[in-house]
Amino acid sequence: MTAQQSNVQEVKGKVTTLEKYKRWLYASDIHPSSGCTACGNCYGRGPANWLADEHNTADWKCVPFDYYGWRRYSPSAFWEIATKNYHGLMEIDEDVQETLFSCAQCGLCNEICGVIDRDARLSDIFKTFRFMIYEKMGPLKGHEKPIENIKKYGNIHGIDAPTSAWASGLGVKIVKDHNTETVLFAGEDASYKLPNVAKSASKVLKSSGLDFGIFENEINSGYYLEVMGDRWGAEELWKKNFDLFKKHGIKKVVCLSAQDYHVLRREFDAEFEILHITELLAALISSGRIKASNKKFADGSRMRVVYHDPCYLARQAGSKSPRERRVLEQPRAVLNAIPALELLELGKKGRWTWCAGECGGVKQGYPEMAHWRAERLIEDAVSTGAEILATATPNEQLHLVEVLSKMGKKPNLEVMDVVEILGQSI
Ligand code: SF4
Ligand code: SF4
Repeated sequence: MTAQQSNVQEVKGKVTTLEKYKRWLYASDIHPSSGCTACGNCYGRGPANWLADEHNTADWKCVPFDYYGWRRYSPSAFWEIATKNYHGLMEIDEDVQETLFSCAQCGLCNEICGVIDRDARLSDIFKTFRFMIYEKMGPLKGHEKPIENIKKYGNIHGIDAPTSAWASGLGVKIVKDHNTETVLFAGEDASYKLPNVAKSASKVLKSSGLDFGIFENEINSGYYLEVMGDRWGAEELWKKNFDLFKKHGIKKVVCLSAQDYHVLRREFDAEFEILHITELLAALISSGRIKASNKKFADGSRMRVVYHDPCYLARQAGSKSPRERRVLEQPRAVLNAIPALELLELGKKGRWTWCAGECGGVKQGYPEMAHWRAERLIEDAVSTGAEILATATPNEQLHLVEVLSKMGKKPNLEVMDVVEILGQSI
């Protein structure tokens, strides 16, 4: 039996606790100076924490705090509530549920707080506490339908069709009929809502001569179940994915979604090589197997593109502990390889990127907050003079496209995946 299988069975059925994080929860049997010092730096209302490894005075930081403006919706307060619950001073109830699930799991507080480190992220404490809330209260109201959809149809959209439908008529090889070690994992948003991203990825990879296939029906990555609190549901999906990869002899999984990439890499990196598509494309460009041309802009004009770092590439990136690794250069390398492109940068980029308001189940649970955050990002992108806002995860692209279409005075901006932009120049 593999490590992954035994891990899944070992935890199955056990009650979730915060015991793993007791060092950070003012536990009475450890040093009393652990835990949040309430400095306020993580939500932009306090002095820089002198323990932080880089001074950061960003005005907006935590998604729910920026939206609501109350300390209740801040990393510091989430930590305080988890601590009180750990010590039996605060029961889980609807208020606690509504407060904790407002965390977008964007991971910015993990970058800022200099207190917590080593084997824990702040957002992981909040996520684990959410498992406990889910076990007691069931799903948050806005998460009921998405969770039901994932369990019934295998995708958050509730679409009853194979994930490979986007590839119909394109001659993309299906893994069960074709022996290959590399699988393209499109994910639910590219498969059903933004098929051009999946088609572009397939076109670009084919142009490189790489041998790859897709599953006729992918197993959901479990990202949304995990962030929505259904830990056991997510574990089941990880086990199913593991078994499917093993059954077909898959060695390399190439993800279009940064969220899928983060979860699968964090769970499986010891067994399979999990890559984000931009990592693979940057390598193929660097080795000369993919060459972008000026084809679309033969008149010499250059499109102005601003790149937004998704939280799950810039801060989480499949790592198990904070600040372990990041995918920052590869998406930029792909864009910079296109001669007809002028790459612009947002003020909040790389490690300090803003969440687009899609992550962590907030799009489904707190749609107004999610919409507000995406609008701010779109305004930021427009202010750079860009014609195209480039993303590297269909989850975020879908959210931005939806918000853009609802904005009263629609900005002159298109939202595209890095892979789509590259695909146009091949
Ligand atoms: S969580 Fe960290 S950065 Fe935020 S208030 Fe507490 S100590 Fe300061
Ligand atoms: S992970 Fe992001 S949204 Fe959640 S508490 Fe930290 S900064 Fe706020």
